Amino acid sequence: MTSDKYNDFGPSLGWDLHCHTVFSDGTKTPAELVDLAGANGLHGVAITDHDTTAGWADAQKAAERRGFPLLRGSEITAQDGHVSVHMLAYQYDPENEGIVDLFRSTRQARIERAKRMVSRLSKDFPITWDDVMSQTKKGDETTVGRPHMADALVSAGFYRTRSEAFAGAISASSKYYIPTSSPSALQVVQVVRQAGGVSVVAHPADYSRNKILLSDEQIGRLANAGLGGLEVWHRGNQGKERERLLRLAGELGLLVTGGSDWHGKGKPNKLGENLTADDVVAQIVERGAIGLVS
Ligand code: AMP
Ligand code: FE
Ligand code: FE
Ligand code: ZN
Repeated sequence: MTSDKYNDFGPSLGWDLHCHTVFSDGTKTPAELVDLAGANGLHGVAITDHDTTAGWADAQKAAERRGFPLLRGSEITAQDGHVSVHMLAYQYDPENEGIVDLFRSTRQARIERAKRMVSRLSKDFPITWDDVMSQTKKGDETTVGRPHMADALVSAGFYRTRSEAFAGAISASSKYYIPTSSPSALQVVQVVRQAGGVSVVAHPADYSRNKILLSDEQIGRLANAGLGGLEVWHRGNQGKERERLLRLAGELGLLVTGGSDWHGKGKPNKLGENLTADDVVAQIVERGAIGLVS
């Protein structure tokens, strides 16, 4: 039992449903994710890159080759009032028009916002847009974000690590920060439901991301619109708040999930440090529009 592990599952007793790869801000490929999950004895894994399905095909190929169970998903950046919300979405039809439109507009907004942030940063740190793009391991297929700006600052010698850059110029409280324009959490719940998927609020009680958390009422509204679950088992959710989330999940009939938020070398989070129970995964598969890969 490590201090950053919050559920009681052993390492081989569940699924890690929150993992990033080179198709967003992770440092490992989808095949490396599947291989590591298999080597660690997990029951299965989900690929959940930010605002994209671009890594699904590679993950599927690796999972089929290894005979290892895979859920396909994404982590969608959204907002609810003044609260920044990350929504995990699983097993939806990737060709659904609503989903395709949503990703097209959020990706466009991300690129515009990143260019504006780089222009602000470049006044004090001489980095260019090309420097940021050269940190994306999949070029145009990569969902660009602050991690790539952080990596460009590291590469230029201004910080030693990505985390150090996030504590400095890349922080949401720095003068260079610009928020990315995002759909509402309600809209994401609706679009994912229409695309036949299951939506889950990621790390709903992570005070390092938000000074103000989603209220019981806000979560209740999302549940009424078809939200599927809450990611309770995540290192960002602390003691009392985890209890609140478990209570809400019980009251609102929401699934309780867990995941590491693995980013390879991009974050200290360890693959499998938080897990989702097999019966919860079975319900996600049953509700979803596409099949489990294995
Ligand atoms: P963005 O969506 O472009 O604002 O960037 C937010 C992303 O940065 C999230 O997906 C996190 O994975 C990542 N991130 C946030 N804080 C840190 C940190 N301290 N170290 C590394 N990555 C971080
Ligand atoms: Fe990330
Ligand atoms: Fe997140
Ligand atoms: Zn994440």
